[in-house]
Amino acid sequence: MKTGIPLEEAQTLLLNFTHPVTECQVSLTSAVGRILSQDVRTGINLPPFDKSPLDGYALQAKDTELANSSNPVTLEVIEEVQAGYMPKKQVTPGTVTKVMTGAPIPNGADVIVKFEDVKRAGNKVELYYPLKAGNDIIRAGEDLRQGEVIAKRGTVLTPPLVGLLAAIGVDEIPVFSKTRIAILSTGDEVIDPAEELRPGKIYNSNQHFLSAYCSQLGAAPVAMGIVPDEKEAIVERLTQALDLADLVITTGGVSVGDYDIVPAAFKEIGADIIFRKIDMKPGSPMIAASYNNKLIIGLSGNPAAAYITFDLIVVPLIKIMLGLDQKMPPKILAILKDSFNKSSTQRRFLRAKVQTINNTNYIELTGAQSNGVLKSMVACNALIDVPAGSGPLVAGQEVSAVMVGSGSELFI
Ligand code: AMP
Ligand code: MG
Repeated sequence: MKTGIPLEEAQTLLLNFTHPVTECQVSLTSAVGRILSQDVRTGINLPPFDKSPLDGYALQAKDTELANSSNPVTLEVIEEVQAGYMPKKQVTPGTVTKVMTGAPIPNGADVIVKFEDVKRAGNKVELYYPLKAGNDIIRAGEDLRQGEVIAKRGTVLTPPLVGLLAAIGVDEIPVFSKTRIAILSTGDEVIDPAEELRPGKIYNSNQHFLSAYCSQLGAAPVAMGIVPDEKEAIVERLTQALDLADLVITTGGVSVGDYDIVPAAFKEIGADIIFRKIDMKPGSPMIAASYNNKLIIGLSGNPAAAYITFDLIVVPLIKIMLGLDQKMPPKILAILKDSFNKSSTQRRFLRAKVQTINNTNYIELTGAQSNGVLKSMVACNALIDVPAGSGPLVAGQEVSAVMVGSGSELFI
């Protein structure tokens, strides 16, 4: 077992351990937000046939060569075609077919003229200007060609993509299964937000932050409730969680206090400890283990520590399990807008908000940075990466930061 390892080593150790997810099929109605597990090609042309973009008449452009406002050309209407029906007659010189928007173009016709631009009298129409062959015809395959890849494996299904799949007649869509993530909160002091607050107790925020984040990523959170700081209780609930989920996350009880017995519970169920403690602040107390090819990750109970380690270490794992393309949080350089007065003996991540103005990134702290502070997570879209051994940070200096996705601006 490794201890006190750098963040990057922890990320790599766990990424190597993460298994690809399974695949399933979903219908169009439940496809939005899911991730394609295969490239999808269209089996048909879109549109499938040449069609009219407007209500008008289909004819041969050469019939109109000599038309002008004082000498209109008169042509005979031979058929009327509604959208959804096939023309029965061929358009020949001197004839036109009335077509509605979306109707197939009759054979022989090479142009469409709008209703408004002709004069109709009985079964005749008068045309007043020459038309150009090919105008106002939507060609088969103009939107998509048969065989074309419309979306690649790893793509998130957005509403327009769902519409496109429907347009090419794909109803059963191959997607990655939703990763089930069990979330278990530990701590005698932790109570459910639905309960009345009692002296010495705090509400369970970690459970709800983590569940919400998992849902937003497209995973399926499995709420495992709250267990007290008792080894047997944790062991029992952990065992249930491992049955129900692909990945198990616990919060609380991983530091060095008298009641920090989560690592002991991991060992008790027979899990192999991969590492304990990370060399960063906040979030140093953390444990990762594996059991029957499933990862169990114990995060600190401190909300900011849990949030930050989840963003930096667990989210990339979930993305792999979900089948998403982009995995590691993107890194940027930015100009610091305010100052941070503390020195950092250990590597430190600061909650911040980055904004890009004229191609330059500017970053500012989102509020107080201590471990227990939740408020500064709300506007946070980036974490400033302060190297170990740094002095105070001053406004105007360049800093490196990692983009994270739980705050106001989602990047997936
Ligand atoms: P621990 O990791 O158990 O040492 O807890 C560190 C701090 O986080 C303590 O102040 C706990 O009360 C708090 N804490 C633990 N679990 C939660 C939770 N689920 N939600 C909010 N705060 C928590
Ligand atoms: Mg505790």
